[in-house]
Amino acid sequence: MRPDSVRRWCFADQLGPHFLDVEDQPVLLIESRAVFGRRRFHRRKAHLVLSALRHRAAELGAQAQFVQARTYREALSHVVGRISVCQPTSWQADRFVRTMPAVDVVPARGFATDRATFETWAQSQRRLQLEHFYRDARRRFDLLMDGTEPTGSRWNFDAENRQPPPKSGRLGLREPWLPDEDEIDEQVRADLDQWEKDGDASFVGRDGPREFAVTRAEALAALDHFVQHRLSDFGPFEDAMLTADRWMAHSALSAPMNLGLLDPLECAYAAEDAYRAGNAPLSSVEGYIRQLIGWRDYIWHTYWHFGPDYRHRNMLAAHHSLPQWFAELDADAVEARCLRSVLEQVRDHGYVHHIPRLMVLSNYALQRGWHPAAVTDWFHRSFVDGYDWVMVGNVVGMSQHADGGLIATKPYASGGAYIDRMSDYCGGCRYRPGHRAGADACPFTSGYWAFLARNRDRLAGNHRMRQPLAGLDRLADLGDVIAAQQRLGDTPP
Ligand SMILES: Cc1cc2nc3c(=O)[nH]c(=O)nc-3n(C[C@H](O)[C@H](O)[C@H](O)COP(=O)(O)OP(=O)(O)OC[C@H]3O[C@@H](n4cnc5c(N)ncnc54)[C@H](O)[C@@H]3O)c2cc1C
Ligand code: SF4
Repeated sequence: MRPDSVRRWCFADQLGPHFLDVEDQPVLLIESRAVFGRRRFHRRKAHLVLSALRHRAAELGAQAQFVQARTYREALSHVVGRISVCQPTSWQADRFVRTMPAVDVVPARGFATDRATFETWAQSQRRLQLEHFYRDARRRFDLLMDGTEPTGSRWNFDAENRQPPPKSGRLGLREPWLPDEDEIDEQVRADLDQWEKDGDASFVGRDGPREFAVTRAEALAALDHFVQHRLSDFGPFEDAMLTADRWMAHSALSAPMNLGLLDPLECAYAAEDAYRAGNAPLSSVEGYIRQLIGWRDYIWHTYWHFGPDYRHRNMLAAHHSLPQWFAELDADAVEARCLRSVLEQVRDHGYVHHIPRLMVLSNYALQRGWHPAAVTDWFHRSFVDGYDWVMVGNVVGMSQHADGGLIATKPYASGGAYIDRMSDYCGGCRYRPGHRAGADACPFTSGYWAFLARNRDRLAGNHRMRQPLAGLDRLADLGDVIAAQQRLGDTPP
């Protein structure tokens, strides 16, 4: 039997053509209802995953065996003969497929760098620095290279990027590509309503029209639209936030990419082509390519490299559970304008871009000492693009500094001044970003100092924290700041 005639089991995040060896390979797709009973996912995420899976089944027709069952194990009992699967994207699923006797596991797909290449690179490094990995990937894929030199003679355009938002309160770009729903979406919506009624599933967040691509054709249309209409502005406002513009110039392609509908390299080459054709500036194109073949791959590879226990790290000894208002996405309970606005977007859409995730939601969690594993689980459930592999590095590593600095050299903790500089939130807020104590103290500013005070000994050995910790010693009102934080406790700010 030819290997490419063995039926390929594709998980719901392996739905693109690149997960098959040949176009007409027989396919197995499994819809497991139990997955939605185990965790309280965002309603929009459940919709997106089911819709993508069912669209793929419809598209493949007789080429696919589509099994709808309670569990994967039950579904597999209906399958005759050997099957193969590309390495799944979580430790748990990876362990599961390897225990199944009739399943062959082939190398993972859907990322630019393969695992063997990453491991060879990692063995040659003292520290796994994103910048070194990214430069190596640029050379290997010949992306934005002129011979052996980076195009424009620079690897990094951060100085041009990361500007504060325009004063007008809008970037004024065209909205990202948006899909039209069809009868499959209608059925998914009816099924999810029914499962919830039957007690088989329970969701957070609000339902609404689907906003992300679920087929290869839709994903390509969304990519094309981004490259044509939004990529040019990606760089300068990468880190900026605006109340009335939740997309800014971001691609909003992480959801279809994590469903396996787009390959990161094809997106990176499409962006490079736009630069070479004179349709997008180098700074924006470099910024976007860095996210894809740099950050996305780096987070994927460190997930495996640091092992299954990495997720349990808790170097800052953060043990508080998530308060109910945050867990339930109760934005209406919050007065702090930045947090209210971002939580509202998560509740209503299951998506915000990188900076609200890192500098508003995660920053708040870090300052309050919420347990990193609980924060990881929250992000995984609440975002349309959330999967285990992408959560652990981004939350445990990057945003909660629970790994002691393996991914980020210092904690991403900051006060209201950063949010004020990079957004338009503070103007209409009842708190003042510069105040750390008193009735109008910004909860991010007081939270920042309280975080430093709590972790002074744990962070003392980090030379990048020397200056902030020295600032702590100069605060005459530190006692008042900590008291204000303690008074706030678990109540919404
Ligand atoms: C606390 C936290 C949680 C996050 N959770 C997720 C998540 O659940 N799923 C997810 O895909 N990304 C996650 N990210 C990374 C990043 O925020 C999102 O990929 C990005 O906001 C998605 O929006 P976009 O497609 O418009 O991205 P763009 O800004 O347009 O970026 C381009 C692409 O780069 C990739 N990318 C950029 N940064 C990262 C990163 N740090 N990790 C992985 N991919 C990256 C994404 O595929 C993204 O589509 C998280 C980051 C943080 C700090
Ligand atoms: S003042 Fe503080 S709480 Fe209010 S929007 Fe600004 S950073 Fe957020």
